[in-house]
Amino acid sequence: MKPTSSVSAPAPAPVPLCDIQAQYTALKTEIDAAVLRVLGSGQAILGPEVTAFEQETAQFCGAQFGIGCGSGTDALVLALRALDIGPGDEVIVPPFTFFASASAVARIGATPVFVDIDPITFNIDPGQIEAKITSRTRAIMPVHLFGQCCDMDAIWQIAADRQLYVVEDAAQSFGSEYRGKRCGALGIVGCMSFYPTKNLGALGDAGLVTTNDPVIDKKLRALRVHGSEVKYYHKYIGYNMRLDAVHAAVLRVKLPHVANWLTARETAAKRYDGLIERANLHGFMRRPIAMPDRRHTYNQYVVRVPSNHRDPLVKYLKENGVGVEVYYPLSLHQQECFKHLGYRTGDFPTSEEAAGGVFALPMFPEITEAQQQRVVEVCSSYLRQTVRRAA
Ligand SMILES: *Cc1c(COP(=O)(O)O)cnc(C)c1O
Repeated sequence: MKPTSSVSAPAPAPVPLCDIQAQYTALKTEIDAAVLRVLGSGQAILGPEVTAFEQETAQFCGAQFGIGCGSGTDALVLALRALDIGPGDEVIVPPFTFFASASAVARIGATPVFVDIDPITFNIDPGQIEAKITSRTRAIMPVHLFGQCCDMDAIWQIAADRQLYVVEDAAQSFGSEYRGKRCGALGIVGCMSFYPTKNLGALGDAGLVTTNDPVIDKKLRALRVHGSEVKYYHKYIGYNMRLDAVHAAVLRVKLPHVANWLTARETAAKRYDGLIERANLHGFMRRPIAMPDRRHTYNQYVVRVPSNHRDPLVKYLKENGVGVEVYYPLSLHQQECFKHLGYRTGDFPTSEEAAGGVFALPMFPEITEAQQQRVVEVCSSYLRQTVRRAA
C-alpha cells in the first residue's frame, strides 16, 4: 500500500489575494444580459453604452464630464496630452507607485520628476515638492495609492502658487474621498482604471478620465479617436484609446454596487486591524493608517514588516495558500528603463524603504472573517517559527 497522509488534517482552503469571480457570480444574470445586449446591438466600440457609462460614472465621482478610454494607462496619457504637456516639460510624480504613473509622462515626451513619499500613507510628500519645481514644471500628479487620497490641501496650495496642473492618478482609489469629496474631482483631470482588480473592475482593460472643463473634455474625446473631431480630419496626432461597449455595459451593472463593495472593504480592513492586534502582531506588522480627513477604500490592505522578514514571510504565506503580493518591490527611480533620468539608489530613501518592507494581504469585498483569520494565523505561525529558530 502506498503511504498516505490521511493522518494529518486536510490543508485549510487557500485564500486568494483577490477574487474577481465573486462579483460575476453574484451578478451573473444581469452581467450576462448586458453582454448579450451589446452583442445584439452591433455597436462594439463607444456608442450609447459608453456614453451612458461615462455620464453615470462622472456623476458618481462628482465630476461634470467622463471620457471613457481603453485603460487607466490610456487615461493618464490622454489627460497629460489634453493639457498640452509634452517634450521639454516636467511632471512631478512619486517614485513609489505603479509604473504607469511615470511611464505615461515619459510616453508623451515629458520628463517625470520624482518626489519622495510620506512614510505613513505611502503617498507623495507635499513638503518635498517645492524643491523639485523648475521653470519647466507643468503639473503635479498625486497618486492616491492603495485606496487613500493624497494630502490634497497642501498639493492644491503649491499648484495654485506655482500655476501647475493637478492630474490625479486615481486608478487605485475609485470612490475614495478627501474631506467628503470623491477623487476624480480633486484636480483639473482625474484618471481612473477599471482593470479587473480595481475597486470597480471591468471584464478586461478599461479606463476613464474625469474633468469639469468643457474644453478639456472636447480635446480628450478627440485625442482618444486619433485626434479627430470630424471623422478623417485630424486636429491632433491622437491615439486609438477607445472604450469597448461590452466593458461599459458590464461596468454599468456593477457601478450601483460599488458603494456597498467599498463599505465591505472598509469592514474587512477593520477586521484585519483587530485580528492583527489580537494576535499581538502589530508590533511586527504595521497596519495601514487611514488619515482622519479621508476615506480609505482599501483597494489593497498593505502592511509593512522589518525588511529582513518581508521576503521570507511572503514566501511562507504563499507556501501556505495565502495569496499575497508585493506592491511594489522596486522604486521607479531605480528601474532600468529610467536609468537615463540619472537617479541613484539612496535618492528617495522613504520610497526605497517602503519597497523593501511592504506587502499586500488578501483583500476583496467578499472576503470572509474565516479567511482573514486564516491569513493572520499563518502570519503568526511564521513569527512563532522564526522566533523559535532564533532562540
Ligand atoms: C492600475 C494602475 C494604473 C494603470 O491602470 P491600467 O488600467 O492597468 O492601465 C495606473 N496607476 C496606478 C497607480 C495603478 O494602480
